Amino acid sequence: MDHEIRKLAWQIAAHAEWQAMSGARAIPQGLPPIETAGRVPEAAALAPTAAVGAESVDEGSAAVSTPAVASASANERAGDVEVAATLDGLRGAIGDCRLCRLAGGRTKIVFGVGNPHARLMFVGEGPGRDEDLKGEPFVGRAGMLLTDIIEKGMRLSRSDVYICNVVKCRPPDNRNPEPDEVEACSPFLRRQIALVQPEAIVALGKFAAQTLLATKTPIMRLRGTWFAYEGVPLMPTLHPAYLLRNPADKKLVWQDIKLVMAKIGLDP
Ligand code: SF4
Repeated sequence: MDHEIRKLAWQIAAHAEWQAMSGARAIPQGLPPIETAGRVPEAAALAPTAAVGAESVDEGSAAVSTPAVASASANERAGDVEVAATLDGLRGAIGDCRLCRLAGGRTKIVFGVGNPHARLMFVGEGPGRDEDLKGEPFVGRAGMLLTDIIEKGMRLSRSDVYICNVVKCRPPDNRNPEPDEVEACSPFLRRQIALVQPEAIVALGKFAAQTLLATKTPIMRLRGTWFAYEGVPLMPTLHPAYLLRNPADKKLVWQDIKLVMAKIGLDP
């Protein structure tokens, strides 16, 4: 019961924070004002859907803020995310983000690394222990394998591509991020992709692929086929951590990578 109440409080807090960051200054009562009806800001469109209205929660509940009391700096930060013109600017706008419960267990926000104008972007699930400590994605054993795929397989430098994750903070015990955590963090990934403007995205593993494509289709049926995310061609493939446990399936990833190389004009 306590767990359910805490989860609900987190959902409401994230929802309220995003509404505030999108410019809301009060809890809507009935229909929206005529001048804003039908116009949905991007961040608002991504806001988590709370199960109940914020007004149903006791004001004394821990960690719950409402649009009416959310800080002006939160509003400014959301605006900064949406209009950030560079990756450095976006990272600055994210600041010490505490939009979801993953903030409580992280050491560092793991934003992303690589060429800010990369032709190819790799997107994983979320930081693990090594990444959390270093603040950089894919630096453990799975990261070394990804680097091999990029450098030995594709004959690119790791610094030629851009690497990031769906969520920027480490989930506890390496569990999958929960839907409200993904929703809270998704504006950051969307802005990263909009700024990098890659020619192709490689979704690493089941979670990243299923999340970006909003599907439950198994990764073995997704991989090897082109999809699109925000208009960018997206190739799902197997996660390097999976390959460490199942090295025989490296050949499947190589098949996918060859399709990616062809897509961006590299000789396989
Ligand atoms: S996972 Fe994303 S939304 Fe959640 S606290 Fe970290 S940066 Fe913020």
